Amino acid sequence: MSSPRFSEKPELLAPAGDLARLKTAVLYGADAVYAGGRSFSLRSRASNFTMEDIREGCAFARDHGASVHVTVNIIPHEDDLDGLEEYLYQLQEAGVHAFICASPAIMQAARRAAPAVEIHCSTQLSVTNSSAARLMCEAFDIDRVVLARECTMDEVKKITSSVPCQTEAFIHGGMCVNYSGRCTLSNRMTLRDANRGGCAQSCRWQYKVYEDGQLERDDFTMGSKDLMAASEIRELMEAGVSSFKIEGRMKTEYYIASVVSAYRRLIDELYAYGDLDAERMQWHTDQIMRGENRAVWSGFYHCPGDGNSLIMHANSDADVNHDFLGKVIEAEGDSGLVEVRNVFASGDRAEILSCHSGILPFEIGELITADGIIKKEARHPMEQLRMALPAGAQKGDILRRSRQ
Ligand code: SF4
Repeated sequence: MSSPRFSEKPELLAPAGDLARLKTAVLYGADAVYAGGRSFSLRSRASNFTMEDIREGCAFARDHGASVHVTVNIIPHEDDLDGLEEYLYQLQEAGVHAFICASPAIMQAARRAAPAVEIHCSTQLSVTNSSAARLMCEAFDIDRVVLARECTMDEVKKITSSVPCQTEAFIHGGMCVNYSGRCTLSNRMTLRDANRGGCAQSCRWQYKVYEDGQLERDDFTMGSKDLMAASEIRELMEAGVSSFKIEGRMKTEYYIASVVSAYRRLIDELYAYGDLDAERMQWHTDQIMRGENRAVWSGFYHCPGDGNSLIMHANSDADVNHDFLGKVIEAEGDSGLVEVRNVFASGDRAEILSCHSGILPFEIGELITADGIIKKEARHPMEQLRMALPAGAQKGDILRRSRQ
């Protein structure tokens, strides 16, 4: 389908912390996912991807018309490079579409060892101007530059229109209070190197602040609010940005399903209609926020990043507005089997977030255990309960409930 306004529909690129979340992201509408292997990747401590998982993930993505990008984005020291080329070659053979690299040494090794794989210049390189972007293209023959989260909208437009490669921009997720990972807070406070995959998120810890020996506050954090750029999507599409990235390889399956499906709908509608009215945009924003659990701001696109962009209070889940109640593991006719994640009860108003059928509101009816006992409440995590489900619910769908 063509668009009345945009020449191309951008790729929706989602994070995947493990194979289950990779599949969730693809089923809920991601065109591509990015994952980290157990080597040479930031967040490598959090990664559950073996080479076998990456192979399976690539095959699954390919079967669903999607692709897999792998982060190879550490800032390597001398002995970090051992085994790199063999690893890159194995990733190519596994079916990986692109490497996300932050080091020129890794980019060069990637061209040598895995020439069929695209090279994307990581946001760790903080590209905020067209001259730097062009240099990356010319010197390292990259296919895409991932723009720094600190770019303004004007900078995104200027860079995108003047570089001989694709651009990718962040639209959602965590921001660094320092310059996109150029930070040694974690190194100093925990001896874990943020630029070699070990960030302990020290900025988000709770601190006591003293002034002249007097305790001023005991709930201070330096964490940034999360990026939520729904209102900037149309302008980013007009600018010709090729890929919209959601941050969050540490995020839950529920978060991935909610946020990815919400942006999928927003991008598809904007592409189909060219623009949306305020009421419809608010609906999309509400849908995105059903998965978000932090305060948000719209990033540096139209804002200098003042104090309002920081979470100046203790971290909490005060901003959560929906609870993940369970996952549909079987669906047939008008009933199914749900694996419990949070407490719920017969009579609760809830909804199925379906990867195929959209949002399906309904009232929870009888809950029946494997022994045929009828319960009023679901209280035990991972217990499987049979219940009536709305038409269109399918295996893999998510059951959730509003907190209001
Ligand atoms: S400690 Fe915070 S600011 Fe520093 S790299 Fe980690 S997340 Fe970013």
